[in-house]
Amino acid sequence: MGHDQQVLFIIQYFLGAKELQHLLRNLQHVIDEADHLTNAIPIPPLLVFKQPHNIKQTFVRSKLPNLQENSDHDITQPCHSNLCKTCRIVDTDTIITRENATHQVHGTYSCNSANVVNLIRCRKGCPEAWCIGETMQTLRQRMNGHHTTITRQECSLPVGEHFSSHGHSASDLRVSVLQGGLHDTRQRRTTEKKLIAKFRTHEDGLNHRFMSHYM
Ligand SMILES: [Zn+2]
Ligand SMILES: [Zn+2]
Repeated sequence: MGHDQQVLFIIQYFLGAKELQHLLRNLQHVIDEADHLTNAIPIPPLLVFKQPHNIKQTFVRSKLPNLQENSDHDITQPCHSNLCKTCRIVDTDTIITRENATHQVHGTYSCNSANVVNLIRCRKGCPEAWCIGETMQTLRQRMNGHHTTITRQECSLPVGEHFSSHGHSASDLRVSVLQGGLHDTRQRRTTEKKLIAKFRTHEDGLNHRFMSHYM
């Protein structure tokens, strides 16, 4: 520190702050009268007060909670059981976005989740390779059966076509749970239909056989 530099004390403002300032000013003569102190502190030190947190800052969150924010219970994760092939393809994203449409996944899911509406996408990011389906089986059973016992997946054929097309294999599948906690076929199909309309996968995706069947 050079001799001509002023010492700054930055402290949080408190009720006795003014008194401290006066006290320092009154004690300046002690410094002035002692040569060794004058050499060390040639210019009176400056007190700088920063504003303390006030009650509003303490109790009011300045940022409103983001409604798109995940809660701790919104998790999709692999089941980690031996031999599960779905763990490798299960997508842990809980916010799904396509163009202007966004869907927040609510709930805790894994390969063992049943009665869900799911979304298949391509790991290579092919924009048209979106397919929404519903199943009463577990996600694992559904994915295992994807090429064989498909009971009602309107996009099963297009999905098969996409993932067997040039440069693709079944390991390019990504599967997400969009919604679970659906109690019966009617609920699952209503939800599936809503989500297909939201993401427009019947017009621009692998659900193109869907709406003609239902509408
Ligand atoms: Zn698994
Ligand atoms: Zn693809």
